[in-house]
Amino acid sequence: MAARLLSGHEAAEAVYAELKARLQGLPFTPFLRVLRLGEDPASVAYVRLKDKRARALGYRSQVEVYPEDFPEEALLRRIQELNADSEVDGILVQLPLPRHIRPERVLEAIDPLKDVDGFHPLNVGRLWSGGEGLFPCTPLGVVRLLKHYGVDLKGKEAVIIGRSNIVGKPLAALLLREDATVTLAHSKTEALQEVARRAEVLVVAAGRPHLVGKDWVRPGAIVVDVGINRVGEKLLGDVHPEVAEVASALTPVPGGVGPMTVAMLMHNTLKAALLRRHGASS
Ligand code: NDP
Repeated sequence: MAARLLSGHEAAEAVYAELKARLQGLPFTPFLRVLRLGEDPASVAYVRLKDKRARALGYRSQVEVYPEDFPEEALLRRIQELNADSEVDGILVQLPLPRHIRPERVLEAIDPLKDVDGFHPLNVGRLWSGGEGLFPCTPLGVVRLLKHYGVDLKGKEAVIIGRSNIVGKPLAALLLREDATVTLAHSKTEALQEVARRAEVLVVAAGRPHLVGKDWVRPGAIVVDVGINRVGEKLLGDVHPEVAEVASALTPVPGGVGPMTVAMLMHNTLKAALLRRHGASS
């Protein structure tokens, strides 16, 4: 059996069509501000992608670029200005930050109502307590991708490999909210392969190229590969392509979760605009 490929491009287009429809008739244009420090090539590329997509949708978008050695206090002051600017709906500070800047100080400085990356502790708390808020884009993208392809998560045995604050942990909260039974595995998990084989839905976000082979996958499982690993000229996922022989569905790398992350940033920007104006996103 060859696994069905779950295209992130296709699912992202559906998100964009929905956002465009919702934008029509709104009396305002969502405004996204992205701050980047330094010239890390991956960050430059990601920020360009976000800005381009926001403009293509009809949002206002502005990127601010600061030098690698920009002081932390100056960055915090700039965030306060953007917090106070009533025209600005979403503020995103591109990660990773230079070493001299403490990411937690930066993430906590952003107004939770403008926190389109969903990393502010208030939004993290709301995610886990079941409330309304802004939640991280990549995990949102994973869930949206699965829903686009009709995957019913209710009661499913879901295993996530990776427990970062950006992907694994918030995804565990989102899958719980979808009534999946969730296991969050990591580098200290014993018998990881056996744990992975229990999964009806297996999500891999470890940042280890081709960590998961076909022996790790329960026949018929749905496998989501979040990994993006640059190996020489190639971009490799955390899942070996041979997994397609046993899984019922698999996300490609590239073209799987990546496009969904940008799509959910656009979703969050509109949601932030609505939350700030009306206290609700619909
Ligand atoms: P982190 O490095 O922050 O976290 C990796 C997690 O994987 C940790 O919890 C770590 O465990 C766990 N892990 C590492 N190696 C193993 C292993 N051999 N076995 C089991 N668990 C392991 O990475 P991120 O969460 O930020 O990113 C993960 C991957 O997803 C990366 O490839 C990244 O590029 C990609 N990514 C893709 C995005 C997209 O849009 N498609 C967006 C964000 C990330 P421990 O906690 O014990 O150290």
